[in-house]
Amino acid sequence: MDNDASWTSWGATRPELNRTARTLLTSALGTLTPQQSAAIENAQLAPSRLPTEAREALVGAVGESSVRDDPIARAEHAGGQSYSDIIGRRRGDTSEAPDAIVVPGSAAEIAEILRICSERRVAVVPWGGGTSVVGGLTPDTGGCAAVVAVDLSRLDRLLSVDHLSRTATFEPGIRTPAAEAALAAHGLSLGHIPQSYERASLGGYVVTRSSGQASSGRGRIDDMVLGLRMATPRGELVLNAMPGSAAGPDLRRLVLGSEGTLGIVTELTLRVRPVPATTQYEAWAAPSWEAGSRIMRRLAQDGPKPDVLRLSDEDETRFSLAMSGTTGAKKRAMDAWLRLRGIKGGCLLVIGFEGSAADVRHRRRGVRRLLRSEKAAPLGAGAGRSWEHNRFSGPYLRDTLLDEGVLAETLETATTWSQLQGLYDAVREALASSLTRDGRAPLVGCHISHVYPAGASLYFTVLAAAQPGGEVEQWAAAKQAANDAIVAAHGTVSHHHAVGTAHRDAVTTDLGGEQLVGVAALRAVKDALDPAGVLNPGKLLPG
Ligand SMILES: Cc1cc2nc3c(=O)[nH]c(=O)nc-3n(C[C@H](O)[C@H](O)[C@H](O)COP(=O)(O)OP(=O)(O)OC[C@H]3O[C@@H](n4cnc5c(N)ncnc54)[C@H](O)[C@@H]3O)c2cc1C
Repeated sequence: MDNDASWTSWGATRPELNRTARTLLTSALGTLTPQQSAAIENAQLAPSRLPTEAREALVGAVGESSVRDDPIARAEHAGGQSYSDIIGRRRGDTSEAPDAIVVPGSAAEIAEILRICSERRVAVVPWGGGTSVVGGLTPDTGGCAAVVAVDLSRLDRLLSVDHLSRTATFEPGIRTPAAEAALAAHGLSLGHIPQSYERASLGGYVVTRSSGQASSGRGRIDDMVLGLRMATPRGELVLNAMPGSAAGPDLRRLVLGSEGTLGIVTELTLRVRPVPATTQYEAWAAPSWEAGSRIMRRLAQDGPKPDVLRLSDEDETRFSLAMSGTTGAKKRAMDAWLRLRGIKGGCLLVIGFEGSAADVRHRRRGVRRLLRSEKAAPLGAGAGRSWEHNRFSGPYLRDTLLDEGVLAETLETATTWSQLQGLYDAVREALASSLTRDGRAPLVGCHISHVYPAGASLYFTVLAAAQPGGEVEQWAAAKQAANDAIVAAHGTVSHHHAVGTAHRDAVTTDLGGEQLVGVAALRAVKDALDPAGVLNPGKLLPG
């Protein structure tokens, strides 16, 4: 269970805002109202609705100590890490907490939990690392008598390694640092590194179709899953690890993105690689967003491909530099260096290579040649190291910003290269018009960090002055505007955060169109595997 991290924040660290970052914020957003956080002991909880008989059956399945309905455990599992989830907890409002937390120790216990809950119509929310930012952990009863969170943190082992095939089999609740440490003992690495790396679980990645920072080289999690087991109320779905297969539709793809609505993944076999001998990150400045996007496309389509490839737009570049301490004389020196190369402002471009020394040298030479041909300017290995050092600091910074009274949230989408600029403009416009208040527009930054030959994802960070007491509604209106803009501009409602509740009502286009054929197919699968409808109600499928 998630005892080490505070229930309202990512962790104990609170990065300080330096003077430049603070000035940038207050001059753009105006007066901010600092926010307090409620202590977990003061969380407001409704009484548990779990019927006594159901509780006893669950205790019979997993043991007394693994069924928790104490206020602390319930409050800790009240939602995930979206802005709205965090604001709710900061206010002490955990009225939507699960009625109990069940912590199984084996796949057999999970199967038994699903049997008990299906028979008694108790809803089940599978719980991995608790980092969902789309409402995937909202404890919706879906009309059932009660709702329990099934916390998978005890299922945290590397089960086996197949060196010859370069695969590894894990239990689903293992967190990424533990998985990497276990693999490192075998000289292997998964290399899936999302920003939520410290807390997210491997099972969570698979069912949300996550994408990590090194996706240009390693691919997304979808590309790493070779086999899995999933417990469902109907029985166990076993998909053996295969390098490739033409044996009918690929059911692995049905589990990928299923968000706990079809079953609970109990085991996964993933592709792994030798620990890279060399890693090298460096930063460049692209002359503009347009030139930077072209660089990204050319590298994605024609190579050579770095493993990490990330382009910030002008606004995100400005804020990132301020936050990383590139201020004062340092910033003036950088501006002068860039001006000499014909760049004013510019867009931060980070490239990273992982592999053998010869492979890194070869790819790096080709990438640098292409960057120079597009008039990008090197900012040096120091800037690359600074990115590497700060690559997980975003969520800690968000805690600081929330304390200061800033609405801080992110959203993401993707589309083809030919439609990317239109999508970028549409989302920025939607967020700006929804969040502008008293003539003050929000700060909206964007980056591209997942590229494909056919297109790329756009990841937006939004900062606005939070409306005290109305933060959740303020963001809900902005999110709705962004969802509408994304659908109208031919984007996907999610490139890697999944659907949850946040995108459920906008997902029809992604799931097969207005005639709802795709939605009907998914519903039929759900009805077959989860006939009592207890698995993660209210997520993924449009209501
Ligand atoms: C600060 C921050 C940064 C992030 N950065 C990234 C990023 O870079 N890339 C990215 O892809 N995502 C990112 N995310 C989103 C999030 O980390 C991912 O969606 C992650 O894949 C969720 O993993 P988890 O273990 O925390 O799952 P949870 O949040 O616990 O669960 C997510 C969903 O999956 C279901 N679920 C969990 N485990 C199982 C299981 N074993 N079987 C069936 N259902 C299950 C849950 O019911 C829920 O619906 C970020 C989130 C935060 C808060």
